[in-house]
Amino acid sequence: MAGIVGILAFDKVWDVSKFLYYSMIGLQHRGYTNSGVVVLNEKMESITSRSSPEDLEFNLKGWAAIGYAGTRGGFPILNEEVALVIDGVLKDSETFLKQFTKDRERALQEAKGSFSLVALTKDGEVIGYRDETGVRPLSLGAFGFDMGIIASEPVGMSVIGGDFRREIAPGEMVTISTLNVKSKQIKEPKRAYCSIEYIYQARIDSYVNERDVYETRIKIGEQLAEEKPINADSVIGVPETALPFAVGYSRKLGLQFDLGFTRTGSPIRTMLASDSFLKVIGVQLKLNPIKSAVLGKKIVLIDDSMVTGTTIKNTIMSLRRLGAKEVHVLIGSPKLVSYCPYGIEVPEDKELIAANLSEAEVAKVLGADSIHWLSLDGLFKAISSRSLCTGCMTRRYPKVI
Ligand code: SF4
Repeated sequence: MAGIVGILAFDKVWDVSKFLYYSMIGLQHRGYTNSGVVVLNEKMESITSRSSPEDLEFNLKGWAAIGYAGTRGGFPILNEEVALVIDGVLKDSETFLKQFTKDRERALQEAKGSFSLVALTKDGEVIGYRDETGVRPLSLGAFGFDMGIIASEPVGMSVIGGDFRREIAPGEMVTISTLNVKSKQIKEPKRAYCSIEYIYQARIDSYVNERDVYETRIKIGEQLAEEKPINADSVIGVPETALPFAVGYSRKLGLQFDLGFTRTGSPIRTMLASDSFLKVIGVQLKLNPIKSAVLGKKIVLIDDSMVTGTTIKNTIMSLRRLGAKEVHVLIGSPKLVSYCPYGIEVPEDKELIAANLSEAEVAKVLGADSIHWLSLDGLFKAISSRSLCTGCMTRRYPKVI
């Protein structure tokens, strides 16, 4: 998975490189282990790095540029005419690049995969395209009347003082040049938005897939309260994604909401950490429990998802060590039981704890007093839509790529 962005200044006196750099930092919650940029000045120049955007040594200047912040591969691919960054899965991307250089509409018509892309041409256009399912998000915005921006999420615009205008529709291609912003519907939309974007992928201050992310997460918390009301002393969300779930849950039931943890170090996603040692150390460094918030209490602990269970197990252990009396776990997503073919890092079935153990077994392994996952119907209700991909929860995938 990745955060992708393109910025084009309507006047060539601008240098967009710093705007691009900070926009990529605003998108690095989508992936931060690989990063790359292509900048257009007299010619197109690129820099790639196996590092986060923050550590990218970035000294290029230009009036149009694209950037990538991702987890694996996916660096910009380019020839002398066109450069591309992709979020998702695009089959045979080198061949696609050749076709796109010759005839971009035809290339998009024939593309195999599930993806969003941002392209930069040497003639000075930034192009955004979202495949017909819209499985990966993409938005259009601007920096006043000076720059057009295309980014995975509106936070890629707001962090640099830009304005979100609208989402790019599934199957739509948007082209920004110094003259205008043009739109063309390349394929009929067949919406299948990724549910995980709402649950934990998108940033809390974003708007993706026709929904405000914060409001949606509050509704998920309220839905959890309907499905599994627990008369707890305190409701705690695992920072940061699950905090709004805890707000919604506690509001709905009139329970006390507490900040159970404080953070150490940068908010790096534990799920993306590459080995289990980092996962264990990562969670302890990241989340230090607050003793006075948990001592002697019956706690509802809400997290956004459960993959292998390692993270939540360590979190529960740390609450117990500080004297929590009971820990009841709620998960703000349905059970993850299968892989994702569309570019989100969901491990294979054999590593997914919910695919292999019963609820009682999971609770025992984690050391929790009880556990409940959001139901699939509850997810549809909270998002008020059924135009969703739920493949990793149901093994029913909307599109075979
Ligand atoms: S399979 Fe899961 S993670 Fe992948 S796009 Fe569908 S809902 Fe999102």
